[in-house]
Amino acid sequence: MIIFGWGDQHFKDFGPIFEMECRECGKNEYWHLYEVSEWVTLYCFRIIPHNREKILMCPVCRSYQSLDAHQFDELLPHAQANKAYLEKEALLTKRKERTQSGSWHNQRSHNSGDHKIVCKHSANRIMQGIFLVVLLIAFFLIIILSESE
Ligand SMILES: [Zn+2]
Repeated sequence: MIIFGWGDQHFKDFGPIFEMECRECGKNEYWHLYEVSEWVTLYCFRIIPHNREKILMCPVCRSYQSLDAHQFDELLPHAQANKAYLEKEALLTKRKERTQSGSWHNQRSHNSGDHKIVCKHSANRIMQGIFLVVLLIAFFLIIILSESE
């Protein structure tokens, strides 16, 4: 049973920085700024961080470049701004989807209005049918009555 250990890695994502072609996987993607901390653990609990590394990481294959503190500090505000922007965009698209589904709902209720008109038409047809049946019955009654005389 492992009680005490280290090497439990924790990745903190600060956001995307810039588009870069990865040497490992060849993909053109936005690399993210991360802080990787290794923790001394007791049971499963993280107790002390003992190694912190600042890196730029490919989101596809997770290969990375190490950064020094100065580089990290320079990139950090960009990463945070990009992340905030993306979160705002995600919120906006969510809202858009909601309004789109709203208009779809309106369209549906509009269609159900059409459906009501169709029902009215069929109600008229039923009335016409009943009227015809009544006419036929009256017609037969007249014939039967005139024959019995
Ligand atoms: Zn890659």
